[in-house]
Amino acid sequence: MRSLQDLIKLAEEHGMGLHEIIMTVDSEATGVPTNEIYNLMLSRLKDMRRSTEEASRNPNPCKLVPNTGVLIREYSKGAGMCGGFLLKASAIALEVASYNASMGRIVAAPTAGSCGILPGMLFSWEEFYGKGMSDLDRKLTEALIVAGAVGEIIANRATLAGAEGGCQAECGAAAAMGSAALVYLQGGKCEAVSNAVALTLKSVLGLVCDPVGGLVESPCIKRNGILLAVGVLAADMALAGVVSLIPADEVIDAMGQIGKSMPASLRETSRGGLAVTPTAKRLSKELNLQ
Ligand code: SF4
Repeated sequence: MRSLQDLIKLAEEHGMGLHEIIMTVDSEATGVPTNEIYNLMLSRLKDMRRSTEEASRNPNPCKLVPNTGVLIREYSKGAGMCGGFLLKASAIALEVASYNASMGRIVAAPTAGSCGILPGMLFSWEEFYGKGMSDLDRKLTEALIVAGAVGEIIANRATLAGAEGGCQAECGAAAAMGSAALVYLQGGKCEAVSNAVALTLKSVLGLVCDPVGGLVESPCIKRNGILLAVGVLAADMALAGVVSLIPADEVIDAMGQIGKSMPASLRETSRGGLAVTPTAKRLSKELNLQ
């Protein structure tokens, strides 16, 4: 899969849903039957749910970042300005990203560093909109299939690696995948899915990868908890009918080109950005990090 626009065109031509055409195209390319593809994605969803539950039960033993997920979870019981959906999504994202940093088993979606964003969006949607739905897992699996296709297109046209494209390619891609999933879950049209992807990615272009001390903790964990908000708002904008001037495929190309233009110091080497601030240097020395 290389083009979101082509997928949408195919879906329209064949009168299929987006998740159906994605599985059909994938099946033709890999020889794996569509029912097996569906079952594999259902299994990923279950892994994601398991890791989310484990993450919420585990105190955070990360070296640099205190347990931010617990703070947001407690805060969300009050009247946070962002509202319940976003705060819940953020709490899940922070917890899962922290769990990854402490060697917990997560689903890299699309990468380990950005693993909190998609479960944050999907399972907050589950709590706020999916309760009591008889076919909830089917719906979430279909959304995961849509998100996965967006990730594959980004990988094929640009990159998903912070070392190649900066954090725009990791947390930015995850937020774009999540925004596509949310539009799908809310019953949006294919074009709205595409617009959500474009609107999200456009808003994170140029975001560098600069982990303090070479650990996937700071700024990674908090970026998980914050960047998903871009994807949520982009999904709402797309559902409202806002159209991206630049189509999603072209935004992805621009992201890849920006990634290639980034100096190596801002691509996961910890030789630039936040990683070389005085505080980062002091902490790296104190903790004997790179
Ligand atoms: S800052 Fe770098 S290591 Fe951290 S999540 Fe972003 S891309 Fe991954």
